[in-house]
Amino acid sequence: MKNVTTPYYITEEAKVRSLIRPYKKFAHKGMRGHGLLIAGSYGMGGAAVMAAQACMRSGIGRLTVHTPICNHNLVQTLVPQATVEDDLHERFFAEPTDLDNYQAIAIGPGLGQEEITAKTTIEQLDSCYVPTVLDADALNNLSVYRNFLNRVPKQAILTPHVKELERLVGRCSNSYERLSKAKELSSYLQCYIVLKGAWTTIITPEGNCYFNPTGNPGMATGGSGDVLTGILLALLAQGYPQEAACRLGVYVHGLAGDIARERQGVISMNAADIIEALPEAWKKLT
Ligand code: AMP
Ligand code: MG
Repeated sequence: MKNVTTPYYITEEAKVRSLIRPYKKFAHKGMRGHGLLIAGSYGMGGAAVMAAQACMRSGIGRLTVHTPICNHNLVQTLVPQATVEDDLHERFFAEPTDLDNYQAIAIGPGLGQEEITAKTTIEQLDSCYVPTVLDADALNNLSVYRNFLNRVPKQAILTPHVKELERLVGRCSNSYERLSKAKELSSYLQCYIVLKGAWTTIITPEGNCYFNPTGNPGMATGGSGDVLTGILLALLAQGYPQEAACRLGVYVHGLAGDIARERQGVISMNAADIIEALPEAWKKLT
């Protein structure tokens, strides 16, 4: 295993605050970006909903959700602020969509791992010329078709949890080996890797590592990661550079998780509570 020595940092709140760009008096929604979220499949529409709700609470101008037909009403009802674009398939992501009109794209929450979805995901990557987030099943599908890893757009943000990372880089015996392999992958793909968990680590293509201090074990429950994907999509669509989006997004996500723990307790809190806490988290930072 290659031994890579790099600078390590802990993200501090003062730094995060300094990254936030205030809105101008004459801001309009066109200036706050149009994002595309490709998410959901039969039985996993909730992932699309949570990512979209978090996105709409993180300052994006406009959001379109591309999802299989079966999730149309669910997303339209639970995220009325977003536009829904139907895939041609009833249950799965099966049709690459036109990415021309978006400032940022996120692919993955609840997509599933049907063969057709894996192939469509890979095909879709070829047209990703704007800042892109790859999460969840977008990563799982890539780990099945590893020879297509080189199609991942440069500067993309990959947000694996530990298991998703290990599917990509192989089993690791400890956290040091995991971090080393994540750094190698980040350097090879020239991508940002957000390795999620306690002390989520943001790895830049240059090899810098930022450890995030916010968040708590109450976030270890279904949907928490989808919320982060929505936040990152919102920040990229608003024009935040990838590194700033990662540091700011991961920090505010954890802060919302900490507020949710205060309100609901570490046992009962869930991803919906993290979304509900997002406005207070953003207010605390501005
Ligand atoms: P996922 O596994 O994709 O749903 O993502 C879970 C999210 O919750 C990630 O953003 C993690 O960083 C966060 N999370 C999970 N467990 C913890 C923990 N023990 N401490 C802090 N954050 C956590
Ligand atoms: Mg996840």
